[in-house]
Amino acid sequence: MNLIWFRNDLRLADNPALFHALASGNKTTALFIVHSEQHQIHGEAPAKFEFLKAHVNNLIERLNKLGVNSVVKQLPLFADVPDYLLQVAQQLSIQSIYINRSYWFNEQQRDQQVKNILHTNKIQLHSYHSNYLLPPGTIRKADDTMYHVFTPYKNKFIQVMMASYELPLAVPHVESTTQLGGEPKSDVKEPLNVDFDGQDMWPIGEVAAAARLKSFVNDNDYQEERDFPAIDGTSSISPYLAIGVISAKQCLAYMLKAQGEGAFYSTWVSELIWRDFYNDLLFEYPKLAKHQTFKTHAVDHWHHNPELFDQWQKGQTGFPIVDAGMRQLLREGWMHNRVRMVVASFLSKLCLIDWRLGEAHFMAHLLDGDLASNNGGWQWSSATGCDAAPYFRIFNPTTQSKKFDQEGTYIRKYVVELANVDSKEIHDPKLETRKACDYPEPAIDYKLARAEALSWYKDNPMG
Ligand SMILES: Cc1cc2nc3c(=O)[nH]c(=O)nc-3n(C[C@H](O)[C@H](O)[C@H](O)COP(=O)(O)OP(=O)(O)OC[C@H]3O[C@@H](n4cnc5c(N)ncnc54)[C@H](O)[C@@H]3O)c2cc1C
Repeated sequence: MNLIWFRNDLRLADNPALFHALASGNKTTALFIVHSEQHQIHGEAPAKFEFLKAHVNNLIERLNKLGVNSVVKQLPLFADVPDYLLQVAQQLSIQSIYINRSYWFNEQQRDQQVKNILHTNKIQLHSYHSNYLLPPGTIRKADDTMYHVFTPYKNKFIQVMMASYELPLAVPHVESTTQLGGEPKSDVKEPLNVDFDGQDMWPIGEVAAAARLKSFVNDNDYQEERDFPAIDGTSSISPYLAIGVISAKQCLAYMLKAQGEGAFYSTWVSELIWRDFYNDLLFEYPKLAKHQTFKTHAVDHWHHNPELFDQWQKGQTGFPIVDAGMRQLLREGWMHNRVRMVVASFLSKLCLIDWRLGEAHFMAHLLDGDLASNNGGWQWSSATGCDAAPYFRIFNPTTQSKKFDQEGTYIRKYVVELANVDSKEIHDPKLETRKACDYPEPAIDYKLARAEALSWYKDNPMG
């Protein structure tokens, strides 16, 4: 009997662990372990947890149709997994456990403990690469060290990816295996309790995610539109990628099908490579998962300003584009990438507030909260990271707003009190307009804050 243990890979298609477990011809049972406490320790959004549980339920149904029974277990912590896994393996007479690899620090520690306990008890563990375009560690310089600049990493990445490209695995067919279906003898057979109210925006299931991807790759003007938050110009696939409802390899395959070989060099695939890059950095430098800066000598004397941080969190800074982004985050559990960069630069460079507070706030609300990409994005924005924006590149929120939300459409959607303000004024309303709309005055003086930031960063070199 086999066990396929699903983790960050909640899909049937392009799932090597599932594919190989079924292809072995042995009876296979699926296992899902849901960790409410671990989720909290990782500071992840409650909505992301509900989104994940909804996908577990969805996958159980689909596995059932495939003839695979499922076991669901709620365990508080990763540390509880090894003993539980052994117990299930013994109860169900499991000889082989199949997983797709996790690369982050806590997950690797958990998996090492699992490996040890299974090895001692003579149960085989089969693990596969699956959730990134290439396994971390693949792209290294001639001296075998990690690239610290994205462009040469990307160039080599594309070469290797093209040379080793294979189509993603299909959803396994029942007929392709001799015997499917185990007999779950333990634990929950009921669906998990789910309280997710974002289904209109984020429909549940791998079929819905694939449909979103398909419609994006067949009809997008990404290069032109990706920076404009009022336009639906990006794929909005990140929440699905974050829990593995769809794989990066599937994303690439859809794009190749729609656009041909040139897609390897497209801006969109380059963004997928950023995702791999940040994951590779975390793999190479586990300190990044422990609240440390990439730049070893970065000085960490950030300003302590709880009131300003509170205004930023609530979208009450008096900078309409910043407030629109922060309110989008609270309302939808997602924020447009251009605006993520603007609000992160605002907090870390103009307010000089510790980027880790921003990172944690994002993680606590994002549906796509992803340790590697979030850390990478925040360290990029605050100039503490690998190949980060230089310290003197400080976004002017008003200029960004005029450039990327010219008509103020995005601002109006989220900062509703400004809905009737003229598009010329909306980026920086006059004092009397603010009063009339009950919208706050700017929390900082941009010019002074910029000057202070430049001198602060000079005194605290991010060497
Ligand atoms: C401060 C900050 C924090 C961020 N936190 C996260 C996070 O927690 N989770 C997350 O998935 N992304 C994060 N990003 C990256 C990016 O903003 C989102 O991936 C993107 O907005 C998701 O929208 P999309 O799916 O429409 O992306 P698209 O533009 O359609 O891109 C396709 C995919 O490529 C990947 N991608 C795109 N841009 C980036 C990037 N800059 N870095 C890494 N991967 C990227 C994502 O997986 C994305 O889904 C962050 C960026 C910043 C500046």
